[in-house]
Amino acid sequence: MTLPDYSQGAAWQRGSYVPIAQASVPLTDWGFLRSDAAYDVVTVWDGAFFRLDAHLERFLRSCSRFRLDPGRSPEEIVAILEQCVRLAGLRSAYVEMLCTRGQPPWGSRDPRQAANQFYAFAVPYVWIANEEQRRRGLDVRISGVQRIPPASVDPTAKNYHWNDMTMGLLEALDAGADTVLLTDAQGNVVEGPGFNVFAVRAGRLVTPREGVLEGITRRTVMEIAQSQGIAVEARALPADELRGADEAFLSTSGGGVLPVTRIDGETVGSGEVGAMTQRLAETYWAWHRDPRYATPVRY
Ligand code: PLP
Repeated sequence: MTLPDYSQGAAWQRGSYVPIAQASVPLTDWGFLRSDAAYDVVTVWDGAFFRLDAHLERFLRSCSRFRLDPGRSPEEIVAILEQCVRLAGLRSAYVEMLCTRGQPPWGSRDPRQAANQFYAFAVPYVWIANEEQRRRGLDVRISGVQRIPPASVDPTAKNYHWNDMTMGLLEALDAGADTVLLTDAQGNVVEGPGFNVFAVRAGRLVTPREGVLEGITRRTVMEIAQSQGIAVEARALPADELRGADEAFLSTSGGGVLPVTRIDGETVGSGEVGAMTQRLAETYWAWHRDPRYATPVRY
């Protein structure tokens, strides 16, 4: 008998661990059929989870907003996440926990009768920007595609309602840009596929307040700013204000603080990666070694 190969990642599904390539969700799970699910992603860097408690707390909050019950204690969830990382032998990982609606009994369309399901997986660390993009800064397109309004789907509960993001991303990639930022009905930028956004103006940070996931990286950037005496405003960010910023950057668990140096083909500020962006990125990575935020994986 050959041993399972977890080298590409490991998943937990309905009671057992499997290599990531074998992980699946039943076709009739509403998580698949209706994007009816909540999830979160925590990273492992250099052998330690980063801000595990914050991600767990957000996951459980997202589940409860969508009336989903993962049916496990935070301790049980951590044990599963850790085992996925351990099986895959990853020192740096992208670790996802999710809860789907499952399916109601045949013949019923009542979501209250569905048996919710918990899944998890660990794969190698995912970067939203490649090495070259991180060095030169991203070229971002501001899309006319509107992010689903918060009154329709609560963006603070991390979810898979991504058709707006995917269509915007396709449009941006076709136009030769690296990624996309979506707007709200008033033309303010909100967020993009997997990240929040910040503008730097006259030494202050501005980030959208409404219509966004409250990113853990966004929170980390705000806390770094506070610790360094940098003012932060969370408020509406009109697209033109972002275009006219001194610096701009994205924040995400998929790479931390990612510089943006072009928007819609025009340079942002000097067109180079800004000094403030660089400083925040360095501190972001330094905090990964801080015992306040790092939870070592027990390999
Ligand atoms: N906004 C959206 C829509 C996201 O999907 C993500 C992360 O996946 C973020 C923002 C950034 O959140 P975090 O910093 O917690 O990774």
